[in-house]
Formats: sequence, C-alpha cells, structure tokens
Amino acid sequence: MHPAVPVPANEDQRLAALYEYQLLDTPVEELFDALTRLAANVCGTPISLITLIDRDRQWFKSSVGFDHITEAPREVAFCAHTIMDDAIFEVEDLRADARFAENPFVANDPKLRFYAGVPLRTPRGEALGTLCVMGREPHALTGEQRTSLRAIADAVLEHFEQRRAMLRLLDSSQTELYHVDLLAERIVFANEAARKNLGYSLGEIARLPIAALLPALGDPGRFKQRIAELRADPKQSTLRTTATRRDGTTYPIELRVELIETRNSQIALAFGLDLTQATAAKERIDLLSAAIEAASDAIIIAESAPAQESSRIVYVNEAFLRQKGATFAEVVGQRTDMFFGPKTDRRKLAAVRDKLIRGETARAEFITYRKDGSHYYAEISARPLFSEGNLTKYGVIVQRDVTDSVTRGLTLELQNERLTALTSIARGLFSSLDPGELVESLLAGVRELTGGAGRLIAVRGPNDCVVTEDLSMPEGAPAIADGFIDDALQSEFALVRDDARRAAVRILGASGTSAYVLDVSSEDPLVTADIFAIGLLAQYVAVAVRNAALYGELASRRTAVIELNQVKNDLIAMLAHDFKGPLTTIVGFADVLAEDEQFDEESKQFLNMISSSAMRLAGLATDTLTLSRLEQNELTMRYAGLDLVLLMRDVTRVFSVTRTIDFRSDADELHVTGDESRLRQVFENLVGNAIKYSPGGEAVEVSLRRAAGGVEIVVRDRGIGIPRAEMPKLFGRFARASNARELGIGGTGFGLYLARTIVELHGGRIAVESRLGNGSTFHVFVPTTPAKQRLTNRRVLLLDPEGEGRSFVAHTLREEGYAVFVVTAERELLFAIGEAQYDAAIVDVDKLEERAVEALVAGVNRRLALVRMAGKRSASTRGGWDATLRKPVLIKDLQAAVESAIGHHAASAEVASPASSSPGSA
Ligand code: ADP
Repeated sequence: MHPAVPVPANEDQRLAALYEYQLLDTPVEELFDALTRLAANVCGTPISLITLIDRDRQWFKSSVGFDHITEAPREVAFCAHTIMDDAIFEVEDLRADARFAENPFVANDPKLRFYAGVPLRTPRGEALGTLCVMGREPHALTGEQRTSLRAIADAVLEHFEQRRAMLRLLDSSQTELYHVDLLAERIVFANEAARKNLGYSLGEIARLPIAALLPALGDPGRFKQRIAELRADPKQSTLRTTATRRDGTTYPIELRVELIETRNSQIALAFGLDLTQATAAKERIDLLSAAIEAASDAIIIAESAPAQESSRIVYVNEAFLRQKGATFAEVVGQRTDMFFGPKTDRRKLAAVRDKLIRGETARAEFITYRKDGSHYYAEISARPLFSEGNLTKYGVIVQRDVTDSVTRGLTLELQNERLTALTSIARGLFSSLDPGELVESLLAGVRELTGGAGRLIAVRGPNDCVVTEDLSMPEGAPAIADGFIDDALQSEFALVRDDARRAAVRILGASGTSAYVLDVSSEDPLVTADIFAIGLLAQYVAVAVRNAALYGELASRRTAVIELNQVKNDLIAMLAHDFKGPLTTIVGFADVLAEDEQFDEESKQFLNMISSSAMRLAGLATDTLTLSRLEQNELTMRYAGLDLVLLMRDVTRVFSVTRTIDFRSDADELHVTGDESRLRQVFENLVGNAIKYSPGGEAVEVSLRRAAGGVEIVVRDRGIGIPRAEMPKLFGRFARASNARELGIGGTGFGLYLARTIVELHGGRIAVESRLGNGSTFHVFVPTTPAKQRLTNRRVLLLDPEGEGRSFVAHTLREEGYAVFVVTAERELLFAIGEAQYDAAIVDVDKLEERAVEALVAGVNRRLALVRMAGKRSASTRGGWDATLRKPVLIKDLQAAVESAIGHHAASAEVASPASSSPGSA
C-alpha cells in the first residue's frame, strides 16, 4: 500500500467487520441513494457518497453527482483519512492542502476542491467507510450542516446494523435463502447455506445471471413466465428445479417464492430446499416399498397399542392381501385381531406383543383366518421398530402360510398315534386266548382306531350269518340277511358303503375259509386310514383266533397229560409203599438166617446177597416214594437237631461191608437242624453212587468239615467220572450220564434229583466236580439251621367249581413247589377261609355268584390271602382282595400273585390287629 495512506491500528478487525456486513459489490439500493441525496442537499454540495474502505480500494455503495465511477484506489481516497478519527474530516480547499494538492481527483477532473466526511463506525468501533460530501469550490460547513451530516451518517449506520443482524439471521438458517432482483434477473443476496451449497461467494453470485445458477429457468422469458405464473396464483408459490454448483454438479431444489413489489422494485424472496437427501430417501423408500410389495411373504406393519388392545394395522403388502383375500382399504386402519378366530391361540399372540413391547423380536405359529372365514396355519416373525425414547412404536411382522408343513406334521403325528394304538391293540388281541375276551378286544380296538361301532358276525353257512359275542356260533340266533355282509364274505378287501359310513371285511378261519365278518358303522365317514386299520385288525384277529384255537387244544391236551401223570404218581406211590413191607421182611429174615450157625460160609454169602439186594430194592422204593410225594407236593420235612458226623459214620458203616471207605472229619460232632431220614437218603445215594460208579473197586473218601453257616460233606471216588457237558443236567429228573449207560451200570436217574431237592429244601447246596475216567467229587453244604420258611410250606386253596383250574393253575403251582388243594364248591371255600391251615386262596370270580364273592372278601375271620382271578370283562374292583390275576393266567404271574397276596394279607393283618382289639373303632 502507498506509504502515504493512513491505516487504522485495528485494520484486520475492521476489514473482517466490513466483510461481515456483506455490502461490497452489492447492487444499488434506493434507500442509500435517498440518504446521499439528502446529505448533498443539506450540505449544498453537488456530490455525496457512501463509501466503504476495502483493503486496497474504496467502493461506493451509493453516490450522487459522481456517477462515472463506482470505486477508486485506497491511496487516492480522502475517506481513508476520515476513518482514522471519530471527528468529521473537513478540508475546505483541497488544492491548498499539501496532502491532497497532487491527488488526481484534485489535479485532474473533476477537479475537486472541497471534502467533508463522517466515518461510519460500528458499535464496536470499526470504521467501515464514510458518508461524505464533495464540491468543486472551496467550502466550509456550518455547524448545523455538520450536525445534519452526522445524523444522516447515523441513519446509514443504522441500516448497516439492521442489515448485519438480518444477515446473521439468514445465515444461521439451514434453508437456502435468496433475495432476487426480478428486474435485473440477478440474485442480490444468498445466505450462507445457499452460498455453501452453490460454492460461490456472495459477490460472485451477484455477478452471475440467474440462468447460470438455475439453468432450467435460463431460457429467455422462461424466468419471467414462471414469475408471472406465481403472481397469478399466490397458492402456487413453489417451483421445483435444478441448481448448478460452481463445480458444474447439480442438485434438485424446491423454491418457495414470495414476491415483494414496490413502486420501483420487484423483489422475490426465495426459500430453497435442497432435495438431494429427500430425493435419495424417497428413492430408497420407493425401492424398499417395491421390494416389500414384491415379497412373497406377507408383511404387516402394526402400530403398537396399549395393553389388552390389539394393534392397529398401518401397512400390509400385496402378499398379505392375497393371503387374506382382502383389499388394502379393508385392512389398513383395522385392528390385527380382525383375522383372529375361535381356533386362534390368542395367548401366543399376546406373548408376541409383550415381547415386541419389551423391544425383543418374537416368533410364533398360530391359526389365522381369511376374510372368507377359512383358516390356515401361519408362522410369524415380528420385530419391533422403535420411536424416540426407545419405545416400541411399530411392529413389523412377516407372516408365512405354513399350513402344508403343519398338516404334514399333524398327519405324521396322527399316523404315529394310530400305529402305536394299532400295535397295542394287536398286543391285546394276541394275548386274548379267551374267545369272549378276544371279540371284546377287537371291538374296543375298532372304536379306538376309527371311532366306529363294530360287530362280529359268525358265518354258519351260505346266507346264514349271526352276530356273535365270543367267536361261537350261537345256535338259536336268527340269521341276518344283509347283502353287504354277503359281499364282504366274497371279497378279499374291506368293502365300504353308505358314503364310507359303513365298512365290512371278512376274517379267515383256521381252515382258510371265511369264518367271520367284521362290520363297522360310523357316524363320520371312514377315511382311508380307517379302512386300512379295519383290514389290518381283521388280519390280526384271524391270527388271534387261530392262536386261541391252538391254545384251547393245547390246554386240553395238557390237562389230559397232567391227569395221566397224576394216575401214574398215585400208582407208583402205592406200589412203592406196598413194596417196602415185604422187602423189610425179606431183609429181616435173611439177616436172621445169616446169623444162624447151621449155614456154611457159602450159604451165608448168599443170604448177605439176598439181604443187600433187598436193601437196594428197599432204597429204590424209598426213593420212588419220595419222588412221588415230591410230585404231589406232599414231601414235608421233619426238622430236628442231628449230628452229621454220627449220621455219616452210620451210612458209611453199612457200605463198608462192600467197599473200603476212608472217613475223615475235622470235628467229633457237627450239629445241624434237619430231617434226618431225608439227609440219610441223600448221603446213602451219594456214597452208593461213588461205589457203583467205580467198578474197579477203588476206595471211596468221605469227609466232613465245618463251613461258614453250616457243614460241608464231600464224597469222592476214583471211578468212571462224568462227561463234562453232561454234568449240569445230572441233578434233573431221570438224568443219566452217557458213560454210565454205555458201561451197563444200572440206575434210575432220579437219585441226584431227590438229593438236590432235599438239600435245597434244607436251604443247602449240592455240586459236583469230575473228570471223565478220573473219578467224581460231590460237595454238599447243609446249613446249621434250614431256611425258615420254604415255598413248599405254602398251602394254597384253589376254588375251581368246574374242576378246570386243576389242569393248569394247580399244576403250575405244584411245579413251583406249592401244596395245592382244590375245592369245587362255594360252601367248602367259605368254610376253609376261616381255617388256619392255608396261606392263600385263588378264586375264579367269574365262576362264583356275586353274593358269594362279597361274602368271601368281607369274611370277618379271614385267615388267608385272597387272590382274585378274573377275565378282562369283570369289573376290576380290587376292594377286599389281596391280589388280582388276569385270565388267561400266565405262569410267571401266578407265583407273583400268590406271593404278593400273602405279603399284602400279612401286612394288612398287622395293621388291622390293633384295631380289632378295640371294639369301638369302625
Ligand atoms: P442212578 O445212579 O440211579 O442212575 P442218580 O441220579 O443217582 O441215578 O445219578 C444220575 C447219573 O449221574 C448216573 O446215572 C450217573 O451217570 C451219574 N453219576 C452219579 N454219581 C456218579 C459218580 N459218582 N460217578 C460217575 N457218574 C455218576
């Protein structure tokens, strides 16, 4: 800058302030021109200016009488001096002042001679420029003129301030604001938001034609035309167009225009809204809505409602409307429960809503309804949309029709259930050996599987069918004439009639001919699966019928065998018993004769042989008798204290006549409680065998020793031994080893069976170890005291009026070791229950009068346990009974029932006894 130019101390701050006012290079404004005219008039000068001092220039905001220029370099500006001070700067004759005599405006045209200027100073003290007056003659202002000049300057400043405040306001707005001079077709002012977006400074904007900024309005006349349109219709105040930035890029803009027209000016205020973001957002929304509309899953947006109320539908997509068969108008604005129905599980949906309100996502499957009232299975997944404050405002729900997969699942489940039912029915059928029970199971099965009522029809002959309840052919029953049944008889498959409300299928009998027809009637039509099940049941029944027939046959044969066995046992028992008498006589007399001195040695030897043979025969008779008693459950033990050492010495003494026997015992006496004669029988058998099966005459060893809880007796020989594989079965009835038979050694094969039975009845054990050709060793363990109560001590009473029970139940129990007593009359039973000699009574209630049953269970002095034996059909009251046995009776259940009844009776007797002692108690 020229050295002569004075610069204020706060120059930078001053310039900043100047720019803030945004006055430089702005168009002429009538208001300021009016003020300069006023100043010139008041001061009587031809020239007046409002100047602004820029860094290097002074620029005229308004000028009067100085039209040819709008600015001048700062170094020639008188005003540059004016702003250095607060006072009015007045030079009465410029030519006479050395500072200005050379100034071009003084030396040359317009040859100025007078200058007076007032600094335009902001409230914060920055001098922006001046209001000055100038003349071509020397001059001096009067005091009044000075005062007026200052007042006008104040007015100018006031406007400047107002303008600055306004600008700050406008610049703070995010909306783009434009001040347009319509006559000049220029933008006079653009606020900061606008300048920033366009990338131009205010000066640049002011210099550019409108078309450069808003090209769409650039065509000649186009701008005016739009303005005219706006003017014609004040409501049409917005126009949309594109704006061009400095860098050439464009953006969509919406302008709301307000026209301000005065006498000599036409101004438009435009509020611009950059639509870039809005357009992008709209595009995105358009895209999203298109996607949602195109989605194949139904989508609903629902506004969350206060508790207990269902949400209001805000939006649904096309797929949803298709699913529901409704229109948009019918749905939107309604509540979501408009699609609920009686099958809808509202609790599930309430749970979904609660989750949404808590801000969680939720899933559910439920039944929903269409507009026409039909329903389907829907799976929904719902997601919350939040409003401010993190409250759930909306729920977005995607709904899918899952009917297909659900019904598939349901069908599968149904089939599964049906299969399970079918299996259990089949099990029932196969275990029904009683003809009545079988039919009952079949008809119950039909009802369970199909819901229909079934009846079984027996075929007596051609066109002669009767309804039956138990596989029998009711003799006098009237034949039913039913073409459908006749057809079914001829058909391999189940036949259906009456809109599938009736079905019939034949059941083949044992001989392969049609024996029965299963006839099913149902209120609801039978479905394919029902028919299938009926067909299957028919096949099952055919098998079960055959089973039942076979079982019946088997049972009757078994009865015959058992009866025969009984006769045999009786005979053997009788023979064995009758044998013993004469044999004892023979032995006795042979012994007496052998003592007689008149016989020689040879005769005595013969007598000994007679005696020992007779003794063996007697032993055999004893064994046979024992066996028969065992079979009849009449083998009872008579326990008493005994010394096994003594017993064994006695046994071996008898045998030592024929064989060397090494006897050893680790004690002089070994006492146990046992049945002496039975144990003697055991040991005689073992020692006898040891001798018999060592035909080489090898010595036999017998030893006794104390063992834990009892005594162990070992009988050992060095004879033929036993084949390993045959050892386990030797203790069975009539079992003999192959080598013994091959060697021609005689025997019956029940000695060891008896030995085992007797030892076990004592609670002991018997075992063998042996090597073929190398001798055998038998170990017997006899407990010190026999097991307290043996099963064989159980005495069971069986009521069997028709004598049938004897065949199976009695026999089975006997085989298990029970003593079974059969009574055939009610009276006998009622009498027996008061006796102490039985442990339990088994009563076939189906064969008893109801009264008798009641009397039985109510028996005041009942001393035995009662087992109720009944078929499926009998009412299953357990009252008074100690256990129940289902017919047909299975072997495994029989013993369990008897034992549990005895246990139950014993327990209840214990409970009852204190009560019975106090007669007052109920
Ligand atoms: P029995 O001797 O009358 O045939 P047992 O029941 O006493 O009947 O014995 C069954 C079978 O066990 C005998 O037939 C025999 O084969 C075999 N046996 C028993 N004791 C011996 C033994 N000490 N040595 C070899 N075999 C034996």
